Amino acid sequence: MKKEFIVHSSEEVRGIREATAAAAEVRDRLKIIAVPGMTTKEFDSIAGGIMSSKGGRSAFLGYKNFPGQICISLNDEVVHGIGKPNVIFRHGDLVSIDVGINLGGFIGDTALSFVIGGNPEHGETALLLDVTEKALYAGISAAKCGNCVYDISLIIEKTAKSAKLGVVREYVGHGCGTSLHEPPEVPNFVSGRKGPKLRPGMVLAIEPMFNLGTHLVTTDPDGWTVRTKDGKLSAHFEHMILVTENEPEVLTWRKM
Ligand code: MG
Repeated sequence: MKKEFIVHSSEEVRGIREATAAAAEVRDRLKIIAVPGMTTKEFDSIAGGIMSSKGGRSAFLGYKNFPGQICISLNDEVVHGIGKPNVIFRHGDLVSIDVGINLGGFIGDTALSFVIGGNPEHGETALLLDVTEKALYAGISAAKCGNCVYDISLIIEKTAKSAKLGVVREYVGHGCGTSLHEPPEVPNFVSGRKGPKLRPGMVLAIEPMFNLGTHLVTTDPDGWTVRTKDGKLSAHFEHMILVTENEPEVLTWRKM
């Protein structure tokens, strides 16, 4: 029978801590490196270089034949965008980067969205970024021992609804740690299922993906790039967390 969830041993958690700390560092360094005029392919190669300088490698490259080191999704692209030699970052682009690192067999997976040249303070892009990130932290706060996956999904969906944002349904958060995708799934919306109860040692990647317009998405002919059906902007924030006896611990926290 397929497992419903995985509880990681303290030894595994030690390895996962190192991988997630490395992923967080790569993510934050990349945010600083992204400047107007750089091709997304060049950015992808830099990401690969930073990961190997940390002693790791991309957990995405080659996964189901994914061709990139990281996922780089621009503007109406939701997730799984691929760095391209003919696409450059432009001032004002909304970019979502998703970093997955494999460090000695342990996985760190984290994502964030930002605007090239600096995040706006007002307007709908600012709202999208703000609410999606808030939903991530709301979801994390619900990842308490004794709660169910449902409680995380509920608060994330509520946060989106309060700002009338579309919640992507095809892609969801997930267990993570010794494989990129482990049970359980962590949807950003509720369904009839409560999902497993949260127990200390569970490691989850919580990752709201919200759209300014419709929740509907399409996939490009490249088989990877997911974009909004109405061409409106999308944002994506992801942290990995460890469920503990007490408050959840954010493993991909910024250490800067
Ligand atoms: Mg993920």
